[in-house]
Amino acid sequence: MTPLLENHLGGRWQSGSGAGTALFDPVRDTELVRISAAGLDLASGFAHARQHGGQALRALTYEERAGLLARIAETLQSHRDEYYDISLQNSGTVRNDTAVDVDGAIYTIGQYARWGGKLGATRWLADGPAARLGKGGEFQSGHVLTSQQGLVLCINAFNFPAWGLWEKAAPALLSGVPVVVKPASATAWLTQRMVADVIAADILPDGALSVVCGSSEGLLEALQPFDLLSFTGSADTARLLRMHDAVLRHGVRMNAETDSLNSAVLGPDATPGSDAFAALVRETVREMTVKSGQKCTAIRRVLVPQEHAGAVADAIAASLAKITVGDPRNESVRMGALASRAQANAVREGLRQLGEGARTVYAGDENALVDADMQTGAFAVPHLFAVDDADAASHVHETEVFGPAATVVPYRDPAHAFALARRGAGSLVSSVFTDDADFAEQASLELAHAHGRVHVVTPAVAKLHTGHGNVMPMSLHGGPGRAGGGEELGGLRALGFYHQRSAIQGPQALIESILGKAAHWQDIA
Ligand code: NAP
Repeated sequence: MTPLLENHLGGRWQSGSGAGTALFDPVRDTELVRISAAGLDLASGFAHARQHGGQALRALTYEERAGLLARIAETLQSHRDEYYDISLQNSGTVRNDTAVDVDGAIYTIGQYARWGGKLGATRWLADGPAARLGKGGEFQSGHVLTSQQGLVLCINAFNFPAWGLWEKAAPALLSGVPVVVKPASATAWLTQRMVADVIAADILPDGALSVVCGSSEGLLEALQPFDLLSFTGSADTARLLRMHDAVLRHGVRMNAETDSLNSAVLGPDATPGSDAFAALVRETVREMTVKSGQKCTAIRRVLVPQEHAGAVADAIAASLAKITVGDPRNESVRMGALASRAQANAVREGLRQLGEGARTVYAGDENALVDADMQTGAFAVPHLFAVDDADAASHVHETEVFGPAATVVPYRDPAHAFALARRGAGSLVSSVFTDDADFAEQASLELAHAHGRVHVVTPAVAKLHTGHGNVMPMSLHGGPGRAGGGEELGGLRALGFYHQRSAIQGPQALIESILGKAAHWQDIA
């Protein structure tokens, strides 16, 4: 039998009971390791995190906590090759895709270490200047952000076992909040190994970082007042968590990152052969194929002027035809597997639904997999669809296929394009490809309210931009409505979730003293 991974809870390594759940290599369908959280005393483990981890972290200044993050980044960097190996086995991804997860994680921690260092030897944050409340100014109000005194339970998705952990843990630990991570079962191995390496390096105070691998049973029940819940996954699970009795009863603050029908918009100025046209085609193909399309930010809908819809579809299809799919151990392979058999089945069903209301422009050859086959491995080949009547089509705006699929959607004029983008009912990101400065500005502001991020690519930045789907720690990640309504990252803005904003009203000297010892974080970029 394959080894059972341990959980780190209550300041010690513990095995769950029973045989556990097996994790598989999605390319070869071989069993790798097993996980189990059965029988763990979650209530006492969570209490340990709050009492020991939380207290010890809060005793440190932001600068000191930033120092811990820097050491975590160093430790993870020193084990990077092992993480690539685990990812190859358990996620079935090519090296470039693993980099998005593993190197993206280390980069994000490094950024928070740098920003945290600038907060200095302080333990709370000032939010704006003092305000006079009464006549004469002797009685004032000041706003402060103080560390939450609970833990954050991070329930993560399967597609980013490394980055998904650290993009949450970095701002949480910097804020003085202990972290309990529950990785998605299918790819929990990499998360567990990273936590194990950080624990072994003895960087963090006892109780500051815990990992529970296996079933989610009992996790929500162990939450208490002042705990936080940070969720990434499907909208259906988010709905269950929001309605959970413990969340409602204790008023647990919850951040949700869920699924999203992201779009790319080709400007009306961008004719076939233009630089903006080429940039949109390149980015769409990249988004469809990086991590086999298993990115919450991936382009799902390609909104294009109706007169160019055919040309866009042909150009994307021609590029997709060059993508080799198969075992990522073969260096000629550009796109690897999906994360699991369950995902392959879900993608197959999603493709069927999308195909009901759209034309198939391109479908990769399932018989051309390199060193792999559809029977053994959890594969999906790229699929490009097109609709003719963008308003009448429904699946394209509603069904998120978490795999290498996108649909070309024609629009009549800019107002129509923005309305179609909004049919996603709130998305993580929309990107705009144009060489028209007026359209770029109009699109940015029209799309902003329905998106967490608007990514504008003009020919001048076509080679410099950071990518439609790449989540940079400097920029906000999250989106309204269907995307979950959450906010993560965005530099030091991320600390807001892990702090309580309070008004302190009192004598002028008290307010000046408190604000004087605070970090004025909004001034720090
Ligand atoms: P999921 O089924 O909702 O699972 C997400 C996490 O929730 C997993 O850790 C899962 O554990 C756990 N979970 C499932 N049921 C639960 C329950 N009743 N109580 C507590 N936890 C529970 O989502 P998924 O299919 O793995 O992930 C894919 C989805 O995530 C896609 O729709 C994608 O768009 C979205 N996503 C969004 C973002 C973002 O940042 N917005 C990022 C990545 C992915 P188990 O694995 O053990 O079931």
